[in-house]
Amino acid sequence: MTVSSSMPEAVPPISVAGCAAAREPAAEPGGPLRSHDHAFSLAAGHAPMDPLIDGLLRLVAAHFGVAAACIVPGEAPAERGPAAGVDETLHEALRALAHGCDAGREREPLIVPDIFADPAWRNVLAHASKPLRFVAAWPLYGAQGEHVGSLCLIDPEPRELDAASRANLGDFARVVAALAVRPTLATNRDLAVSAADEPALHAGLEALREHERLLAHAIAGSGTGIWDRDVVTGEIRYSVGWKAILGYAEHELTSRIEDSYLRLHPDDREYVLAAMQAHFEGRTPVYEVEHRIRCKDGRYKWICSRGKVMSRDAQGRALRMIGTTTDITSMREMAERLRESATLVTNLTNEVPGLVFQRRQLPGGRAFFSYASAGIAEIYELTPEQAAHDTACIDALIHPDDLDAWRASFEHSAASLTPWHLEFRVQLPQQGLRWRQGDARPQRLADGTTVWHGFITDVTERKRIEAELQEFASTDGLTRLANRRHFMARVESQLAHVRHGGTGAAVMMCDLDHFKSINDRWGHAIGDDVLRHFAEILRTQLRAGDMAGRIGGEEFAVLLAAADLEGAQSVARRVQERFAEQPLGVEGDVVALTVSIGITLMHAADMSAQAALTRSDFALYRAKKGGRNRIECA
Ligand code: GH3
Ligand code: MG
Ligand code: MG
Repeated sequence: MTVSSSMPEAVPPISVAGCAAAREPAAEPGGPLRSHDHAFSLAAGHAPMDPLIDGLLRLVAAHFGVAAACIVPGEAPAERGPAAGVDETLHEALRALAHGCDAGREREPLIVPDIFADPAWRNVLAHASKPLRFVAAWPLYGAQGEHVGSLCLIDPEPRELDAASRANLGDFARVVAALAVRPTLATNRDLAVSAADEPALHAGLEALREHERLLAHAIAGSGTGIWDRDVVTGEIRYSVGWKAILGYAEHELTSRIEDSYLRLHPDDREYVLAAMQAHFEGRTPVYEVEHRIRCKDGRYKWICSRGKVMSRDAQGRALRMIGTTTDITSMREMAERLRESATLVTNLTNEVPGLVFQRRQLPGGRAFFSYASAGIAEIYELTPEQAAHDTACIDALIHPDDLDAWRASFEHSAASLTPWHLEFRVQLPQQGLRWRQGDARPQRLADGTTVWHGFITDVTERKRIEAELQEFASTDGLTRLANRRHFMARVESQLAHVRHGGTGAAVMMCDLDHFKSINDRWGHAIGDDVLRHFAEILRTQLRAGDMAGRIGGEEFAVLLAAADLEGAQSVARRVQERFAEQPLGVEGDVVALTVSIGITLMHAADMSAQAALTRSDFALYRAKKGGRNRIECA
């Protein structure tokens, strides 16, 4: 217990509270003692009592049904008599009592059921101005366990205290000691501060006050309020900051706990009270809740309340609880806005056809989809959760021919931080072979992780149309053979191959003999059928790497890759034979026809593909000139 020597007058020699004693007018001196007799207000004329202690003493008096409860210091300074207005005789008597209960350092409670019947005490209190009959004094102990005074019950009627009541008085004495006695009761020992210690004490005290001021500023600045609840009396005290959170001034708000329950949002009340009860019963180490509370203007704020029971009685019942309250309205609003925008993004991305994703690749190489929209179900027939751990489940769906390109494309994008773009095939359990196109932008995080934001769409239909267009652009519509442009491009690339020392190739030029007469005799449609029929015969003679094309009306060219002149001549002969053996049948008749063929080999020295074609054309000319249905080489 530390009490500054500069404030001894703040220490009342005796603190008393009777039932409503402070509100009653003074009784006539010497008159009978009544249960709420103001004559017991022994602290009158001193600094006002701490309202908490005052309330506690009233509670004690009411609990035991006695006229008054008071705190009596054990050893009052000899030079300090009772203060003005205090009944000196009663004061001395109680001092003697308090001393008695500490006699011989026994520190036993002293209970005198009837002073008149007890010769040891009759004399001590004989001269008191009030007819005291019952006195009980329970020792109070300081922080070091030293005896500092007594909690006294006094009454004008004789009475008994049973064992339970004695235990209660003991409990009250411990609470009184904790709350009131230590900071307020002074003893000679406490006041005996040597002059030499004073400057150091003052400096220490100043440092403490500064610390306290800083703490108060910090608490006020943090928008945090503090509450202190007496669980026994149901009184709850709020700091100025606490009241400010709700928009109340310092003097506003009652301190009754029931009123605080009315401020709780109806939807949160049950939860808050349950959390409080759980902590009272020791089921939770701290009380911590987030709930809405009604402000002075009727609106609700979100607050976070945290607290802890600071003292319990011998049975573990909560006595006092202290806590803090923080306004989290703006935090909740921000969190709500964040939730809304996250929902908006999710809803939007889920509506976008295809897969919107965030893909991460850690410095160690592990890759996973940290976000995947609902479209992953269509693109990969997977759930976002399946792709959230790693991309192995996706790799397994990539077409084997595209897997290397798939991996290399991400590696390249990560290394160069250039946009990722890839068209690739997937083989899915339900949809089968499908085309996908992916685009994403990479970013590098501080820890070396690469993050892509992008999307993958289904391009199967586009790929199909593109393939159709490609075929349309490169194929002859009547015969489905390569058209002239496509054939020439193929011969061009073959020439490059020959120039680079590749195997030789031959070009064979075919022209149907007297085709005009077919048209004339059978009509144009049959002429077309003959052209298709001849194209089919050509096709049957081709090997992998060869190509046949329709160069003109009834002129066809064939590129024979990896063929010498002899090989080309045998192909030409087979074509003539098949054509002769399998003429087109028309309505029981056949369209008999022959074909003239000119052959040339491609040379590395050829200036262009056209040079080889011109040569084979020349050979063809000679075949025509030589009587048709012939094969000539050039
Ligand atoms: P030659 O033996 O000298 O080659 O005589 P030819 O009659 O075959 O040659 P010519 O160049 O005189 O005639 C080619 C004919 O092929 C003329 C044309 O009407 C016909 N023709 C060209 N394109 C088509 C076509 O797409 N369909 C049909 N039915 N006939 C075509
Ligand atoms: Mg012809
Ligand atoms: Mg011709």
